[in-house]
Amino acid sequence: MRIVLLGGPGAGKGTQAQRLSQQFQIPWLSTGDILRHEIVRQSQLGQQVQPYLEQGQLVPDELMIAFIRQRLLQPDTAQGWILDGYPRTAFQAEELDFLLDELEQRLTWAVLLEVEASILMQRSLARSRLDDEPTLIERRIQALFEQTLPMLDYYEQRGRLLRINGSQTPDQVEQQLLTRLNTSL
Ligand code: AMP
Repeated sequence: MRIVLLGGPGAGKGTQAQRLSQQFQIPWLSTGDILRHEIVRQSQLGQQVQPYLEQGQLVPDELMIAFIRQRLLQPDTAQGWILDGYPRTAFQAEELDFLLDELEQRLTWAVLLEVEASILMQRSLARSRLDDEPTLIERRIQALFEQTLPMLDYYEQRGRLLRINGSQTPDQVEQQLLTRLNTSL
């Protein structure tokens, strides 16, 4: 199973990714969590991406594509993965497909957790992570609409997009997601 989970800040990507990862026994890779962790440990990658996260902007494609490439070449991801927060642009989506072709692997589904902007804002404000401050959340939601949602056409045209109503409770979202995955495999 190879799934990319898409959605804005507070859409529930992390919660659902964690549940799917347990259910299917495959690694959960959250690019946002990995980048925040790299910033805390001030690694080279952390220092490179810090200005972008601090401004609620997307990290440049080249950096992200190189990062995902080396990560998906690690042996623990050979049998599948849940990507949480990647890809975020049409360019990343295309490059991911090129990488999968090269690895002779195939994406199972791109899952969009659909949640209204006002609910994304409320949910994100309720947590207190590095980049969950109000003006940053607004910018991240703007990045979602301007850079990430246009990418959906890419998956829709290939018949790979599953849309799930993410404004329900986590259990309801999980249930709907599992049902759709089981009936659509
Ligand atoms: P997230 O926790 O998934 O909302 O990601 C937090 C932040 O990490 C985003 O606002 C971006 O600055 C950065 N980020 C995470 N994933 C990506 C990606 N695929 N492309 C570019 N930037 C990313």
